[in-house]
Amino acid sequence: MSIRCSYCSKPAIYIRKYSGENLCKNHFIRSIEKKVHKTIRSFLKPDIKIGLAVSGGKDSVVMAYIIRKMLKNPSESILGILVDEGIKGYREFSLKYAESIMRKLGLKYVKVSFKDFFGITLNEIIDFLGDAKLACTYCGVLRRRLLDIIGNKFGLACIFTGHNAYDVAQTLLLNIIQGNITHIISKRTEIENFTPRIYPLKYIREEEIILYAKLKGLEYYPEHCPYRPTVLRNKVRVFIEELEKDRPGIVYNILHIAEKLSEYGEEEKLHKCIYCGFPSKRKVCKSCELLINLGLKDRIIRIQDLDSIEIKIYK
Ligand code: SF4
Ligand SMILES: [Zn+2]
Ligand SMILES: [Zn+2]
Repeated sequence: MSIRCSYCSKPAIYIRKYSGENLCKNHFIRSIEKKVHKTIRSFLKPDIKIGLAVSGGKDSVVMAYIIRKMLKNPSESILGILVDEGIKGYREFSLKYAESIMRKLGLKYVKVSFKDFFGITLNEIIDFLGDAKLACTYCGVLRRRLLDIIGNKFGLACIFTGHNAYDVAQTLLLNIIQGNITHIISKRTEIENFTPRIYPLKYIREEEIILYAKLKGLEYYPEHCPYRPTVLRNKVRVFIEELEKDRPGIVYNILHIAEKLSEYGEEEKLHKCIYCGFPSKRKVCKSCELLINLGLKDRIIRIQDLDSIEIKIYK
């Protein structure tokens, strides 16, 4: 006899091991959407304008689909942000899926690239540095800077990114391994020119995101970044996935600890970077520091120059 849903009599299509629930298609879909809603409901205020960082991978495609359903006036309140870091053989393909979902959902979006803004692609950065292990550091910092630029330029209240439960757990463990205590416990309140990042999928497991996409017929780019195998985060990812196989639910223990720890933190004091004027923990922000390392000081984008930068909005 087939297993029945824990909430109705229909056949279960998914067994949620960590909670002991058996879910039919409808109850599975509803449970995912409920979790997302619970995570972001405090941000869904009337007349709000939010950014959605969409790469075309499963997480961001599912996030865009669910968020669009939740907002009353999505075409006015959402701005998709598509970032091209310049990773040949990978990003140009994933962004095709990102554009496709934005058009299907009828959402406005902008496209920004490392090449246009900083004059260099991530591939060129790695060639220059000669060390692929640094890929995520440069990629993450410069991508965040582009998101800050878009957040400020378009007055976004926050930017939603598609990090799932595994991504958030990996970040906590990475911060522990690297001794970044301030990243773990610092609190950020409202800071001028800082656009908060929110993770609507932070309580959702990767395999559930894949299943949701399948049930909804959402297309996404399935490949991974070619730099992924070289970086420390990948080792942490494999470690967490191995633990999860034996003890389903461990990922939520890690998330829970991260949330508890952040309650002990003090409010982070930010300064204005002396070069770009964006909020920074130090006198020189990480983005300016990396651009200077690359000999690209003249490509630093100052916050006071944002008005003069033209960024096309696609519909
Ligand atoms: S794996 Fe690293 S280099 Fe690749 S897209 Fe992610 S952050 Fe960038
Ligand atoms: Zn059911
Ligand atoms: Zn700076």
